[in-house]
Amino acid sequence: MTRSSNYVLVVEDSPVFQHYISELLVDAGYLPIVMSTFSDAITYLEGNPNLLCSVLDYTLPDAPKGEIIDYVLEKGHRVIVLTGNSDTKRKETTLNKGILDYLLKDSIVSLSFLIPILNRIKHNHGKKALVVDDSQAMQCYLAELLERQNLTVFSALDGIEALDIFNENEDISLVIADHIMPNMDGVTLTHRLRQLKSRDHLAIVGLSAGKDKDVVAQFLKAGASDYLDKSFTKEELYCRIHSVLEIQDANAQLFAMANKDELTQLWNRRYFFNVACDNPTPVKSIAMIDVDHFKKINDQYGHDGGDEVLKFLGEALSKAFSSALPARLGGEEFVVLNTELTPQFLDELTAFKEHIAQTKVEFEGKVIRFTVSIGVATAELPVTKLMKMADDLLYEAKRQGRNAIVT
Ligand code: GH3
Ligand code: MG
Ligand code: MG
Repeated sequence: MTRSSNYVLVVEDSPVFQHYISELLVDAGYLPIVMSTFSDAITYLEGNPNLLCSVLDYTLPDAPKGEIIDYVLEKGHRVIVLTGNSDTKRKETTLNKGILDYLLKDSIVSLSFLIPILNRIKHNHGKKALVVDDSQAMQCYLAELLERQNLTVFSALDGIEALDIFNENEDISLVIADHIMPNMDGVTLTHRLRQLKSRDHLAIVGLSAGKDKDVVAQFLKAGASDYLDKSFTKEELYCRIHSVLEIQDANAQLFAMANKDELTQLWNRRYFFNVACDNPTPVKSIAMIDVDHFKKINDQYGHDGGDEVLKFLGEALSKAFSSALPARLGGEEFVVLNTELTPQFLDELTAFKEHIAQTKVEFEGKVIRFTVSIGVATAELPVTKLMKMADDLLYEAKRQGRNAIVT
């Protein structure tokens, strides 16, 4: 997957607005490329830059009638238009060209949408959406609108096809589904999808031609996150999509904050115990890993040096196992949970221990070397008992002189 760009082209002839928009962008972590004229923009775009989006003033000295908008769209870039003109007819015509939004310069409310739109497009990179509609025209229309939002779009003609696509692409995070379709309708599809994925991982937006009011409640009861009447405007569609995906991202962030260790990015103790105790597959073995003489590392290189070592261990552990789950229990203690009876687990642990012993972590121009000791318990026992056994074996590894595995 290509990386999402942070570059935003700004074409605006007013120095005051140039400055204002640039500041907004820089504060939000974007890299603005600022120009004042259409001709400068043409020259710049000839180099085919990788842009996240462009923010274009409708009226420029050398393009007084919005000519730049068509040009930049034709070049395949996303466009947000800035304008001082509040004429609704012109707004509609411009939105119909396929731009992302039309922001009024003299409205703080309108301008305050700029950064949220960019953030949404950026976060949509790599996200998958599925459009389900038996009308090919509606399917294509929705797919095109969602692609402009930087989503990767799949399409299906009915609920059955949608379920097939979903089963092959379980990371789809948004489904827009029509109600009346052959084979399986939208409400039934919503119900089926909701049994497979919670709202935290999948947003479903129901879609129907407005005559049957009852269908809104049916969609929501079946687990839809929101509903759109087919007479929707592009602006409404974008606002609703943004809001359901924002909620999804916020929940994912909350989950990560509660379950991931910030320093090492490994799962934390809380997640480990939840998985270990709820897992339907019985735990087969547990490894306890502890850094040797970590106190000395802290004493010699400072707490930040110690943290570098822990970060390195986090990365190394996340790559070390084909199927086992590593987590940080706290301090310099890690645990690895293995649910499969495979000889490779011990091999992987041995390779990890050797890798660490060969490693040189660079910190403030110095080189930190360190080792780990590991205790591995294998038995059909409750997790806490298995952990106690692994801990005793770890103690034995320390007693044997460290940099060792005891099973
Ligand atoms: P042993 O070989 O017997 O395991 O000795 P040790 O020094 O590694 O073990 P000990 O448990 O005595 O010391 C662990 C130290 O880890 C003490 C504590 O201050 C430090 N520590 C705990 N959490 C962190 C952390 O997040 N960052 C850093 N840098 N140090 C931490
Ligand atoms: Mg230690
Ligand atoms: Mg310790």
